[in-house]
Amino acid sequence: MPDLLAKHAVVIGAGMGGLAAAKGVAPYFEKVFVLDRDALPEGPAARAGTPQARHAHALLAGGQKALEALFPGIELDLVNAGAVAVRGGRDITLDGPGPEPLPRRDLGFDLLCMSRALIECVCRRSLMKEPNIELCSRSRVTELVSSPDHSRVAAVRFEQDQGEPQTLAADLVVDASGRGAPTLSFLEKTGSPKPKRRNRDQYRVRNRHLRNPPRPGGGVDGRRAVPDPSAYAARRIASADGGRQMDRFP
Ligand SMILES: Cc1cc2nc3c(=O)[nH]c(=O)nc-3n(C[C@H](O)[C@H](O)[C@H](O)COP(=O)(O)OP(=O)(O)OC[C@H]3O[C@@H](n4cnc5c(N)ncnc54)[C@H](O)[C@@H]3O)c2cc1C
Repeated sequence: MPDLLAKHAVVIGAGMGGLAAAKGVAPYFEKVFVLDRDALPEGPAARAGTPQARHAHALLAGGQKALEALFPGIELDLVNAGAVAVRGGRDITLDGPGPEPLPRRDLGFDLLCMSRALIECVCRRSLMKEPNIELCSRSRVTELVSSPDHSRVAAVRFEQDQGEPQTLAADLVVDASGRGAPTLSFLEKTGSPKPKRRNRDQYRVRNRHLRNPPRPGGGVDGRRAVPDPSAYAARRIASADGGRQMDRFP
């Protein structure tokens, strides 16, 4: 057990960034609070705070390995929760504009296919088993509070449903709120320089689920097609059930 660094860490946002950050810092703090403005669902359900989760997501091998290191046993938990293992290069291919599709070839590793909501759900369940991590639903952070000398963040202010604003002292704050609004407004308020942001507004994303034709001999067949850099179409996994059900959860 490593030595504790300090008392409270606060993570803003319970998306993949926030869940991973909470797990990473938990050994070093007495208590970690994860605040999310959404009502976090019990199962792998869509929610307002992560609208991008409805789009097709792929978990690449490096990310899967990193998650397994952070959440030991997560690969098995995901499979038990309904994720489908496919063989990289053989069962799933990537089609892009330009060159011909790559020939199918077993690249020697398995990839897990599931919805993003399922990954979040399995990570949330893992965090709920940690005695020093508290997931706080319906807790919208409204402000980062600076220390009296303005040298650091000392607390976060947040609101729960219709309740009174509350303040939580923090030795460390991780802003995993996606667009980082709390941090940007803190930097502005304290007259600190803001980071440069890339303008990605020129991109628009569209995708839909399609059903693959049955594969000779059965099994799983997946293809992800990117026909044009500005338009995105993804054909997701068609499994034995014809691709109707991406998630199964007990
Ligand atoms: C169309 C599309 C396709 C993508 N495909 C892939 C893919 O295939 N593979 C991949 O790895 N990535 C993909 N991404 C990127 C991926 O979705 C993001 O990188 C990832 O969601 C970022 O996670 P995050 O936790 O940092 O932020 P988010 O997922 O945005 O989570 C932020 C969380 O913070 C909460 N929050 C926000 N403000 C507050 C507040 N003030 N107080 C409390 N809580 C707050 C929100 O409710 C939310 O839960 C895709 C993105 C898009 C848009």
